[in-house]
Amino acid sequence: MKKEYINWGLVIGVGLIATVFSITAVLASMSGTITVLSMAVVLLSFAAVGFMLAGYVRQLQAMAHSISVGSQIRLTSEYPADSILNEVWIAAEQFLDGSNQKMKTLQNENQGVTWQLQLLSQQKNSVETVLNSIHDAVIVTDNRDRIILANASAENIFGFKFDRDVFQPAQKMIPSEELVAMISKSRTSRTAQVRHELTMEESGNPVSYDTVLSCVEDGRGGVLQIVTVLHDITREKEVARMKNDFVSHVSHELKTPLASINAYAEMLVDGEAEDIETIQQFCGVIQSQAQRLSRLIEDILNISRIESGLIKVSRETHSLALVIRDAVEMITSYAQEKNITIQSPAPILYDQVNIDRDMISQVVINLLSNAVKYTPAEGRITVDSVLNEAEGQITVTITDTGVGIPAEDVDHVFDKFYRVQANNKYAKGTGLGLNLVKQIVETVHGGSVFVTSTPGQGSTFGFVLPLSKETAAQSVS
Ligand code: ADP
Repeated sequence: MKKEYINWGLVIGVGLIATVFSITAVLASMSGTITVLSMAVVLLSFAAVGFMLAGYVRQLQAMAHSISVGSQIRLTSEYPADSILNEVWIAAEQFLDGSNQKMKTLQNENQGVTWQLQLLSQQKNSVETVLNSIHDAVIVTDNRDRIILANASAENIFGFKFDRDVFQPAQKMIPSEELVAMISKSRTSRTAQVRHELTMEESGNPVSYDTVLSCVEDGRGGVLQIVTVLHDITREKEVARMKNDFVSHVSHELKTPLASINAYAEMLVDGEAEDIETIQQFCGVIQSQAQRLSRLIEDILNISRIESGLIKVSRETHSLALVIRDAVEMITSYAQEKNITIQSPAPILYDQVNIDRDMISQVVINLLSNAVKYTPAEGRITVDSVLNEAEGQITVTITDTGVGIPAEDVDHVFDKFYRVQANNKYAKGTGLGLNLVKQIVETVHGGSVFVTSTPGQGSTFGFVLPLSKETAAQSVS
C-alpha cells in the first residue's frame, strides 16, 4: 500500500515538475533568460508535491499504528468520487475491513481457547481433589507400565511421591512385586477387569487389599492405561473371621447341653430309670442343662444386641451402693452353700450413677457368682467401691481368695467364649459371662473393666463407671 501511494505521488510530482519546466522554458524563450519568477514556481511545485506526499505518509503511519494495536481502521478519502486515487482509497478500505474482520475472528478464537484451557485446568484440579479424598489407593499406569497418576492413599501405602512431570516406572515406585506383575499382566492380557486379593506387610502387620485392575483401551486395539484400585479389607476379613469363630463356638456350646438333654430324655423314654429316685436324678440333669442352654442363648442374644446397638437401654440415676447391696443379697445363699463370706461396702454418699439398673445388677451378679464359683469353700469375697471426685467416677472391685488365673490367661478372660483351661474343673460355664460384663460396662455405660490375679491366691475383678453429672457437681462443692 505504502509503495503504491509513493508511486502515485512520484508520478504526479514528476508530471507537475515537467509542466513547470515547460512553462519556464516558454517564459525563458519569451524573455530570453531564466527569470527568478520561474525558479520560484519550480520551488513551489516541489513544495506542493512534498506536502501532498507527507499527507499520504501520515495517513499510512496512522494505518500502520491501527494495525499494530489491533483497533478498527477507518480511512476517509479526500479525493473526488471519480478519481483514480479515490478508487485506491476504496480498495484500501475494503482490504482493511477484511483484515479487521479476520483480526476480530482470531481474537474471539483466542478468547475461546483461553476459556477452554481454564475450564480444563479447573476440571483437572477437581478430579485430583476427588481422587486424593478417596480412601482407596488409585494408580494409573500407561502402556509402558509407567505411573501417570497416583492419589495420596497410593503414595501413603507404597511410600512414594508421585511426580506429574516425570512418569516413573511402576517397578521402581511400587515395592510389591506381586502388584507390579499384576499390572503388567493386565496390560498384556488386555482383560477388561481382573480382581485379586493382595496381602502386604505394613508396620509389621498383614494388610489385605481387594485389588481391581481395569484395562482402558484406545478403541484401536491398543492398551492405553491400566487403572488399579486397592480397597483395604483387613477389617472386613477380621470381622468375618470373628463371625465364623462365634458361630462355631455357639454351635459347639449349644451342642453340649442339648446332647445331655437328649441322652437323659432317651433313657427316660427307654425306661432305664426304674425307681423314682433315678427318674428324679435324670429329670434334674435335663432341667439344669435346659437352664444352661437358656442362659447361653440369653447371653448370646444380649451380647449381640449390645454389639449391634439394638438393645433397649433405660438409664436412670441410682445409688451404686444400693445396686451392689441387692446383688450381694441375691448371691448370699449360693455363697453360704460353700461357707464363703461376703463383705460389702458401707454405703457411701454421692455415689449416684446414671445407669440401666438391671444391666449393672447383672454385671455385679456375674462377677460375684464367678467369685463364688472359683473360690474354694471357707473362702472370702470382698466388695469395695472408691469414689474419685476429681475424675468424676466410681470404681467397684470384687476380690476373692479363690484359685486365681494364670498370667497367660488374664488378658483373655473378657473375650467371648474364653474359659481358663486350668479352672474348668472348678465350675461349668459358657465363657460369655465376663464378655457380657465388658459389653454392658464399656459399650453401654462408657466405663471400663479390669482384672488382676495371682494363681492360688485369688483375683480382683472391677469396673469403673462415670458418676452422674449432679453427683459430680455435689461432691465437688
Ligand atoms: P464362665 O461361664 O466360664 O464362668 P466367664 O466369662 O464368666 O465364663 O469367665 C471366663 C473364665 O474366666 C472362666 O472360665 C474362669 O476360668 C475365669 N474366671 C472368671 N472369674 C474368675 C474368678 N473370680 N477366679 C478365677 N477364674 C475366674
